[in-house]
Amino acid sequence: MNLSSRLTEIATKHPTKEAYIFQGTSCTYAELDASISKFASGLSQMGVNKGDHVALLLGNSPYFVIGLYGALRAGATVIPINPIYTADEISYILNNGDVKTVITLDLLIPLLEKMEERLPQVEHMIICETPQGKEQGIALLGKMKSFATVIAEGTVTYQGPDLADDDTAVILYTSGTTGKPKGAMLTHKNLYSNAQDSANYLKISDDDRVIATLPMFHVFCLTVALNAPLMNGGTVIIVPKFSPAEIFKVAKECKATVFAGVPTMYNFLLQYPEGNPEDLQTLRLCISGGASMPVALLKNFEKKFKVIISEGYGLSEASPVTCFNPLDRPRKPGSIGTNIINVENKVVNEFGEEVPVGEVGELIVRGPNVMKGYYKMPEETAAAIRDGWLYTGDLAKMDEEGYFYIVDRKKDMIIVGGYNVYPREVEEVLYNHPDVVEVAVVGVPDPNFGEAVKCFVVSKNAHLTEEDLIAYCREHLAKYKVPSSIVFLEELPKNTTGKILRRALKEQLTSTKA
Ligand code: AMP
Repeated sequence: MNLSSRLTEIATKHPTKEAYIFQGTSCTYAELDASISKFASGLSQMGVNKGDHVALLLGNSPYFVIGLYGALRAGATVIPINPIYTADEISYILNNGDVKTVITLDLLIPLLEKMEERLPQVEHMIICETPQGKEQGIALLGKMKSFATVIAEGTVTYQGPDLADDDTAVILYTSGTTGKPKGAMLTHKNLYSNAQDSANYLKISDDDRVIATLPMFHVFCLTVALNAPLMNGGTVIIVPKFSPAEIFKVAKECKATVFAGVPTMYNFLLQYPEGNPEDLQTLRLCISGGASMPVALLKNFEKKFKVIISEGYGLSEASPVTCFNPLDRPRKPGSIGTNIINVENKVVNEFGEEVPVGEVGELIVRGPNVMKGYYKMPEETAAAIRDGWLYTGDLAKMDEEGYFYIVDRKKDMIIVGGYNVYPREVEEVLYNHPDVVEVAVVGVPDPNFGEAVKCFVVSKNAHLTEEDLIAYCREHLAKYKVPSSIVFLEELPKNTTGKILRRALKEQLTSTKA
């Protein structure tokens, strides 16, 4: 079984059931399955073959759902990319990922045209039309074809090639501490098993109506808010852009039963002055992940809105879910819960030996959800997966009842409103500035976004200002990666081998505050 064949199975069982709701209109499973087959067939007629790489450069929309499942049905490997990335970031992924076909919005054509010569291997661009794009009167040129035409040219009876469990279904680009994004290869089995194991654990069924407002190109939404409900006959409520007003509105109108979000979203919902608990009364479950959920926020949210929050944990390399707070046993605020079905978690020391209960070590994971490896990066794969266990790089401890607690990140990743920011990537950009001598980036607590990016810079130009550097970063980085503050220093702390000590900078900040 895989995502595509299971969807057909559900469509055969519940043809008239709503698969998704988007901006007031809904689509049944039979209609969705037919669109997926036609799109897959259209792709195949264009020459997209089994194993070819198709990028989805899209926000949350029916285009994403049909594009994802359609490409999978055609046997392709899908590479979802954040559409707000800059030309540099997008072209890096398209090149490294050997992408031949890009599915994107008409609004992004100008950006793609800018990078066209950097993308010689891209053969086809499939353009999704938006009302705004049409108004701009954009002509579809050369390699471009509209999404609607691909569907129109396809046949509904198309079945696609056989898919093996171990074939790569999706490659998710995730940055490591090395700075360069790495493509985590998730197989059909990885994604299908994690969707079903999470759904079983969280009791997601055909009665559920799940709000998908987290970005679908991120694995949290992909598995928990999209695949898990669709694999079980539930309804996905597609919300392109998170705002508290929109969530209260759709939850009420669509009678949502499940909401999945990062802690920052819960904070915005709680702080929203017009937030009426009655609008959320059909919710049975809120799911939190991606970053640690502050206990006070969890308790205040549950009290005000009378709905439970189950915090879980995961990472791209594990498709992503490894733990959740259970629904049929006590939940423990501050913890990421216990192993989901079929997945094992363990806390180990530097020799890979399990540490005693309560002791801190690295969290490692084993199960059908663990990725095949990083695309074209055998060394990084060997470092991440040892003896069948995925080393998460997160420090954790376990209590006597098997609940895990994330203590800190081993890697220095910063999480801004649920998005990962890797210090090295921001540093690389700043190192390209002619006046910057040295730079170190750290995460600092931020009341709205959980964390913010702070930079320490040694400059050779006394006139260089914080505003200059922030403007420079804006040109090269997605908005959420741009530092919110920059401090100029004479020199940066280093260890004896000359390595800059980010941690020391963080400690300095804390002691200055104290
Ligand atoms: P990603 O690969 O983008 O899904 O990011 C995975 C990382 O997010 C993990 O390695 C953790 O550092 C962090 N993370 C995910 N869930 C939690 C959580 N509940 N508490 C703390 N950190 C989390």
